[in-house]
Amino acid sequence: MKKKEVMQADKKYHMNVYGDRIPVVAKKGQGVYLYDKDGTEYLDFTAGIAVNALGYNHPQVTKAIQKQAENILHASNLYYFEIQSKLSKLLVENSCANKVFFANSGAEANEGAIKLARKYFTKQSKDKYKIIATKDSFHGRTLATLAATGQEKYQKPFTPLPQGFDFAPYNDLEAVKDLIDEKTAAIIVEPIQGEGGVNPATKEYLQGLRELCDQKEILLIFDEVQTGVGRTGSLFAYQEYGVKPDIFTLAKALGNGMPISSILACGDVAEAFEPGDHASTFGGNPLACRAAYATLKIILEENIIDQVKEVANYFQTELAKLEDKYAIIKDVRGKGLMIGVELRVSVKQIIKQVREENILILNAGENVLRFLPPLIINKDHVTKLIETLDQILSELD
Ligand SMILES: *Cc1c(COP(=O)(O)O)cnc(C)c1O
Repeated sequence: MKKKEVMQADKKYHMNVYGDRIPVVAKKGQGVYLYDKDGTEYLDFTAGIAVNALGYNHPQVTKAIQKQAENILHASNLYYFEIQSKLSKLLVENSCANKVFFANSGAEANEGAIKLARKYFTKQSKDKYKIIATKDSFHGRTLATLAATGQEKYQKPFTPLPQGFDFAPYNDLEAVKDLIDEKTAAIIVEPIQGEGGVNPATKEYLQGLRELCDQKEILLIFDEVQTGVGRTGSLFAYQEYGVKPDIFTLAKALGNGMPISSILACGDVAEAFEPGDHASTFGGNPLACRAAYATLKIILEENIIDQVKEVANYFQTELAKLEDKYAIIKDVRGKGLMIGVELRVSVKQIIKQVREENILILNAGENVLRFLPPLIINKDHVTKLIETLDQILSELD
C-alpha cells in the first residue's frame, strides 16, 4: 500500500477514535529514531507515549522475543512458566512489593488494583469500598478506571459508571481528608499526573496521603503506568518520593513495546486475591514476560537510570533557559524524562512545526508540551530539540 492508501483505509475501516492522526505511517524504528513509510527520519521524543524506554528495536529485547517465539507464545495460566516466575521475582526483589499479577494494559492493571483493594476489605468483612481519586487524573478507559479518571470529557458519554468514586483536587491533602469516611477503601493517585498535564505531586502531599492512609486504614494505590520503569530517574517514582504505596501498577514501559502490565502489592495486601478472584487469558504470557524481563534486566544492569538523571538534568536546565527567554512559557515541570512545558497559547501549531523539523513531541491537554523520550536519549538529541524549539518560539514571541 502507498502511504496515502494506508491513511484512507484507516479512515474507512478503523473506528474513528483517534480522529485525524498525525500523518506519519510508522514503518520502522531504530534507537531514538522513527521512520515513516515515505523514508522520513524522526527524532522521537514520544517513545510511543512512554513505552519504548530502551528505544526502538533494542537488539537484546528483539533477540529475547525472537527466541521466545521459537519456543512458546502462549499456553494459558493453567500452567506455570519459568519466565513468568523469573519476572515476578525480579519485580518483587527490586520494589516494595511482595507479589505481582500480570495483565495486558494500564487500564487493566488499574482495574485489577481497584478490585484488589476492595477484596482486601471484603475478606475482612469490612464494608469499605469507596475510592478517592484526583481531579485531572487519568487511569484508563474501562468503566471502573474511567470512574476513577477525574476528567468529565472522558466519563460523560458512558454513564452510569461504577459507583463509589470521589475526587479531590491534586496536591490538596485537606480536600482528601474531607472526603474520607469509614467506607473509604483506597486512594488512587499518579505520582506525576501524565495526561492531566504533567503535574508532579509534592513530597508533602504523597507523605501526607501515606500518613492519612495509615491512620484511617485505607490503602494507597500509585498508578505508575506512566511514571514506572525508570522514567522519573528512579526505577519507580515512589522511590523518588520516599513514599511506599500498598499497591502500584506498571504498564507502558514494562515490555518496551510488548503489551504487558502489572499489579504489584505490598505486605498482606498481596494475599488479598484468592483463587478465582481475578485472572487474565493473555496476562503474563511467556512472550510478554520475556520482553519485560529483558527490558528490566537492561535497565537494572546497564546504568540506564543514572543516564536518565544526567540527561534529564541537562534537558531541564536547557528548558529553564528557554523559560527565562520567552514570556510565552508559563511553566517547566516534571521529573526525570517526564517533562511538561506549559505555554500561554495552544501547543498544537508548535507540535506541528517541530514535526516539520523531523522531531516528534506530544501534548498534554491544550497548553502543555510533553516530552517522554526513550530513556536512552543523549545530550546531542536534547540539544537538537532545544535549538528547534528556540527557533520556533523566537518566531512566535
Ligand atoms: C496510559 C495510562 C493509563 C492507561 O493505560 P492503557 O494501557 O492505555 O490502558 C493509565 N494510567 C496512566 C497514568 C497512564 O499514563
